[in-house]
Amino acid sequence: MLSDYHTHTELCRHADGWPVAYAAAAAARGLAELGCSDHNPMKDDDFDEWRMALGDLPRYVDAVEEARAAHPGLPVRLGLEVDYLDDGGAWLDALEGMARWDYLIGSVHYLPGGWDVDNPKWLALGRWEQQTVDEVWTAYFAAYERCVRSRRFDFCAHPDLVKKFGHRPGGDLRRYYDPVAQAVADTGAILELNTAGLRNSAGEQYPSQEFLAVLAQTGAPIMISSDAHRPEDVGRDFDRAVALAKEAGFRQTARFCGRERMLVPL
Ligand SMILES: [Zn+2]
Ligand SMILES: [Zn+2]
Repeated sequence: MLSDYHTHTELCRHADGWPVAYAAAAAARGLAELGCSDHNPMKDDDFDEWRMALGDLPRYVDAVEEARAAHPGLPVRLGLEVDYLDDGGAWLDALEGMARWDYLIGSVHYLPGGWDVDNPKWLALGRWEQQTVDEVWTAYFAAYERCVRSRRFDFCAHPDLVKKFGHRPGGDLRRYYDPVAQAVADTGAILELNTAGLRNSAGEQYPSQEFLAVLAQTGAPIMISSDAHRPEDVGRDFDRAVALAKEAGFRQTARFCGRERMLVPL
């Protein structure tokens, strides 16, 4: 039985629904556990327009409690999707102390220079034309490797999110994948197979099947997540995701409670 540990709430201002509705969806899909992992607050609420405000954090924790109370048979875990930033260590220290987290997800959305590569606004603003796709991928994967090597997160999300709008360099992409796999092997990190890519312009899961196979060779477990931004997407495409993960060579997934990792067969 799988868990879905990557889900959002309306507190982040670009998702719908509260944890209680996500829990109902998880129970209906027969998932073993639900994890709530909304976008982390920053010290300054005007950091961007797609995360919860710092003042809403108590509401978020209460909303997860409410989901637990409404679904006593379903473990509901309290998490956050935290933006990895090179200078984010002190803020992460502070966040860690703000609630009894079951797990923290590390994500790279921001590249050095302060642009969030998965934000559609940059397509209209021509940001992608300022660099080659190779340069953007190089910056993204270097940041992703630093995120993994920071050892600050229980797992790291959507490993090749940079392809979201279909930007893919030519040639053998293992030049991007191998250093991340090495970082996973060196640190014992866990990455994620995220089914959101199947529902958007990426046209395939994150990470690609080729990247997934490279990662599987490390012997690490894999998290399977929906990245749901509405309750009806909880557990979406998980049958397909399990088949893809097994085909790549993965055998185990993980669950988290109080930031303790437990491995379970896929
Ligand atoms: Zn989001
Ligand atoms: Zn994300």
